Amino acid sequence: MQRITDEILNSGEVTHRDIFEWKLHIIRDDNTLNAFVTPGGYIYVYTGLIKFLDTEDQLAGVMGHEIAHADRRHSTNNMTKLYGVQILVGALAGENSSLLAQMIGQVSGNLIGLSFSRNSEADADEYSVRYLSKTRYQCNGAAGFF
Ligand SMILES: [Zn+2]
Repeated sequence: MQRITDEILNSGEVTHRDIFEWKLHIIRDDNTLNAFVTPGGYIYVYTGLIKFLDTEDQLAGVMGHEIAHADRRHSTNNMTKLYGVQILVGALAGENSSLLAQMIGQVSGNLIGLSFSRNSEADADEYSVRYLSKTRYQCNGAAGFF
């Protein structure tokens, strides 16, 4: 997972490569097929999604998509509303990240997955392809999943 993330970040296409933290968190929940990202490049992937996806290309597609949301600074207003500004700030500072993951795990992941607009989703897909085209992964790995 970290290897895929690093490869995408080093594609040369990620605008905030050296500005954001880009931390990967695996959430141990085999029953949840989801992944999401919070501002600053905190990427959360459920073990359920990792087990569900067949190939590394598909996983790379998901990671590219999530990285694109953060890199393109897509609005995450719903996150702020749901968990409060304090926690979000704490996460950005690198504190409480396990607490944040815990809280998020208790809420339906779909709620967060839907917090981006349709335009943002299309944009994330487009940029995911852009990132992956500079890696050894196939660009359309996640196509049809989301
Ligand atoms: Zn998305």
